[in-house]
Amino acid sequence: MRIWIDGGLRDAGSATVSVLDHGLTVGDGVFETVKVVQGAAFALTRHLDRLARSASGLGLPAPDLDEVRRACAAVVEDGPLPLGRLRITYTGGVSPLGSDRGDAAPTLVVALGEAAPRPAATAVVTAPWARNEKSAVTGLKTTSYAENVVALAHARRAGASEALFGNTAGRLCEGTGSNVFVVLDGRLLTPPLASGCLAGITRELVLEWTGAQEADLPLEVLEQAEEVFLTSTLRDVQAVRLVDGRELPGAPGPVTAKAMRVFDERSGADLDP
Ligand code: PMP
Repeated sequence: MRIWIDGGLRDAGSATVSVLDHGLTVGDGVFETVKVVQGAAFALTRHLDRLARSASGLGLPAPDLDEVRRACAAVVEDGPLPLGRLRITYTGGVSPLGSDRGDAAPTLVVALGEAAPRPAATAVVTAPWARNEKSAVTGLKTTSYAENVVALAHARRAGASEALFGNTAGRLCEGTGSNVFVVLDGRLLTPPLASGCLAGITRELVLEWTGAQEADLPLEVLEQAEEVFLTSTLRDVQAVRLVDGRELPGAPGPVTAKAMRVFDERSGADLDP
């Protein structure tokens, strides 16, 4: 399976970026993870729109989305998989040491890996620190995931598979690699973008396809929610069975199960060959 880099396909062993790439030295880059089902990319246009928005937010030159599409198609054709995950990485390019990107030409890498079907119901914990909902990079899908990586390691040590962030105002925000939905008094709710969460594409689709509503929620809602689920490209809708040690019996509950059903029914229509 080859990787797209420097405008063409290369064997994985020779697909290398410079050690001076700003993506490596200072985390100056953006990325997307796209699910590929039987050779067709799911919601690719939405992912490319977000890639462009994130790049613009970092002040990177606009990515050539036709090239990104070509790269995705070439990589998928090169290594067909029943269920795959494309990783698109677009960085500040080879730059002088330090934070100044200068006039570097961006680096584009597209790689394909295997994906797994929807994971089983899981345990989550709250993250031990807050997400800054007012940072310059909030809402951008950047390659600076150190905070998420450390929070996820915390979750793993606690026997959970995801950590949920509150923001600096004490409101529910998102997971380290997922958005979060809660059921409260039978209503399906998810934090608004102003909470500092990523504009998750799965979140958007669940909002469009179910009666879910955006709601500014205190972090403590996790102590009362009747149901909780996570959304992300690789999970689609994943039920939560344990929040900070509190059991949510019968997960997936009825609202979560319905969201999964709706997702399964509707998602076939958004595949991009
Ligand atoms: N929040 C964060 C921090 C993420 O990394 C992800 C995964 N991309 C999501 C939310 C979910 O986004 P999506 O549904 O677009 O995969």
